[in-house]
Amino acid sequence: ATPTALMVGLGLGASKGILIRSGEALERAKDIDIVVFDKTGTITDKELYITDIVSNIDREEFIKIVASLESYSEHPIGIAINKFAKDNNISKIDFQSVKVVPGLGVEGYLNNKKIIVGSPKFIEKIAGIKDIDKSKFEGKTLAIAYEDEKGLLGIMALSFKIKENAREAIDQIKKMGIKTIMLTGDNEETARYVAGQVGIDEYFANLLPQDKIAHIKRLQEKGHVVAMVGDGINDAPSLKQSDVGISIGTGTDIAKEASNITLMSDDLISVAKSIKLSIATFKKIK
Ligand code: ADP
Ligand code: MG
Repeated sequence: ATPTALMVGLGLGASKGILIRSGEALERAKDIDIVVFDKTGTITDKELYITDIVSNIDREEFIKIVASLESYSEHPIGIAINKFAKDNNISKIDFQSVKVVPGLGVEGYLNNKKIIVGSPKFIEKIAGIKDIDKSKFEGKTLAIAYEDEKGLLGIMALSFKIKENAREAIDQIKKMGIKTIMLTGDNEETARYVAGQVGIDEYFANLLPQDKIAHIKRLQEKGHVVAMVGDGINDAPSLKQSDVGISIGTGTDIAKEASNITLMSDDLISVAKSIKLSIATFKKIK
């Protein structure tokens, strides 16, 4: 590989809004045979919006509790719920000993009572409640609140938009003979819906951050060269584990630092462009 050709490749990438950290990363990209995508903020827009609120306590009180606890989380769910509370002039209260649990939710204490907000899996894990009726919220992301004494406090359902050209981007990648997989911590129904909308080859739901890493490792052990595309704090370990970590321009700094390639935009077409650039660069070099 001549240094000049590499420089040209990196420069060409930069001019297309594809920031490649090193010549090695550019070289490795040509061998990618699986691209793994995160869902929230990667295939879907980063912004979520609340569509339903079902509460067993006073509605405003419910929103206040959930938003207050979520103000400790930087997750798109937390951001959406806090925006909603602010827009509705709902004030916040202080929680004690708050713990953000990646991929599951948030827990904290209010007046010495433990309250948790998170996925159905989180509520099941901590409270042992299994029979939550989710049928009304199909295709939506759920934040469920639970308190030890009162039990279920309520459910917030959040909706999102799938990025406009996500389907086209995934189609382009598939046409290059590369397999596409979505890994998400979200529930099965929502994962299935999104996967179907964008035509992704495979999806896996209800995954914790460590499950995502393990999944990528397994693929690598089978000899695959795996790219991971993500945006969130939660994605940083998977981006590091992958052979080529690709972060999205609208993502968090932590994700960018953990990746080999950063896309200036949030346009997934650039994932295909990155791989094509690598192939073109190294074809010339050989
Ligand atoms: P994704 O894989 O889509 O990025 P995450 O792994 O971050 O999703 O989260 C998985 C699920 O855990 C979410 O769909 C949600 O139900 C729940 N969850 C995660 N973080 C929070 C939070 N801050 N508040 C409420 N629920 C959360
Ligand atoms: Mg994400």
